[in-house]
Amino acid sequence: MKRNKWGVRKVLSLLVVLAMSVSMFTACGNKTDTTETTKTEPTKAAATEAEPTEAAAATEQTGSGQYIGIAMPTQSSERWIKDGAAMKEILEAKGYTVDLQYAEDDIPTQKSQIENMITKGAKVLVIAAIDGSTLSDTLDAAAAEGVKVISYDRLLVNTDAVSYYATFDNRRVGQQQAQSLVDGMKALKGEGPYNIELFAGSPDDTNSFYFFQGAMDVLQPLIDDGTVVVPSGQVTQDEVGTLRWDGAVAQARMDAILAANYTDGKTLHGVLSPYDGLSRGILSATTAFGLTGADIPVVSGQDAEAASIKLIVSGDQYSTILKDTRELAKVAAGMVDAVLSGKEPEINDTETYDNNVKIVPSYLLEPFVVTKDNYQELVIDSGYLTADDIK
Ligand code: BGC
Repeated sequence: MKRNKWGVRKVLSLLVVLAMSVSMFTACGNKTDTTETTKTEPTKAAATEAEPTEAAAATEQTGSGQYIGIAMPTQSSERWIKDGAAMKEILEAKGYTVDLQYAEDDIPTQKSQIENMITKGAKVLVIAAIDGSTLSDTLDAAAAEGVKVISYDRLLVNTDAVSYYATFDNRRVGQQQAQSLVDGMKALKGEGPYNIELFAGSPDDTNSFYFFQGAMDVLQPLIDDGTVVVPSGQVTQDEVGTLRWDGAVAQARMDAILAANYTDGKTLHGVLSPYDGLSRGILSATTAFGLTGADIPVVSGQDAEAASIKLIVSGDQYSTILKDTRELAKVAAGMVDAVLSGKEPEINDTETYDNNVKIVPSYLLEPFVVTKDNYQELVIDSGYLTADDIK
C-alpha cells in the first residue's frame, strides 16, 4: 500500500519535471519575465527527482474529472471570495471539475444553485449556507441520489445528509473577541466599570450562536460582578442579532443606541462586534456621534478584512480574528477526497456540532486574535493579505 502510494508520487514527480520541461520549451520564444522564472524551475525539480516533491504531492490526481459543487453565501464579504478561490484551486489541481457559485445572500438563489448542481451530476456538494436550516429538503433529496454533502464553515442543520463539517473553533472565536475587547478596554480606557454594547451575527447563521455563546463565557461574569455594564440593556441574542451580517443594519442600531443612551455624556468604552463588516458600520456610527481620537470605543471584529486591518493600523478598530481560509479550504478538499474514496477524513471533534438530527463529525481549525501589535506577522508575513492590500 505504502509502496504503491510512493510509486504514484514518484511517477507524479517525474510528470511534474516533464511538464516543467515542456513549459520551458514553450516559454523559450516568449520574452516575458515568466520565461525567466520557468527556466530556473526544472533544475530544482530535477534535483529532487528521487523525493516526492511538494508540488507533486499537492496535485495528487484524486479527482478524475468528478464534478464538485461549491455553494458560497455572498461575495459582499472578502472572506468568502478567498474561501471559494482557494477551494477551487486546490480541487482543480487534484483533477476535479469545480462549479463555484455565490448566492449574494439570497436564500432561494442558493437553493436553486444547489439543485442545479445536483441535476448536473455533482458527486459532492461543499456548502456554506446563507441560512443553514433552509436546505434540508434539497439535501435529503441529494443524499437519496448518493450525493455527499460537506458543511463548510457554517453548520447545515435539520438534515442527516451532511457527512462532515469543516470549520473553526467557533465558540473559541467568540471568547477571543470578548477577551480582546476586555483587554483593549483595560489597556486604553483605564479602570472599569466599562460601558459596552453588544452585537451578534445573523440569527439564521448557526455560527452566530457559537460566537455569542463564547463571548458571553467571558462577558457574563463581568456583567454579573459589575465590571461591565450594558447601558442599552440589550443583552440577549434576539436583541443584539444583525440580520444577514449587514453592516448598515449594525450602523443603524448603533446610531439608535447612542441617541437613546449616551447623550447625557456617558462614555461608551467598547463594543462587542462579531465581524469586521459590522465593526466598520459601528465605527461609522460612533464617529458620526462625535467619538474621535481617545474617545473611539474599543471594537472587536472577525475575518481580518483588509479594510479593517487598515483601521487597526490607524488605531480605529481594536482587534479582529484571523481564520485562515486557505487552511479551511485544504481541510474541506481533504474531506471531498475522503467521501469519494470511502475513507475517513481527519476529524478532531465529535461532540460539539449537533445539527438537530445528528452530531456532525467536524474538523475545527484554530482562530487567532489580531491587533496592531501582531497584524504584520499574522496577516501580512503569513501571506493572508499583502502589504498592498492594506495601503
Ligand atoms: C463566518 C464569519 C463571517 C460571517 C459573516 C460567519 O458564518 O464564520 O467568518 O464573518 O459569517 O460573513
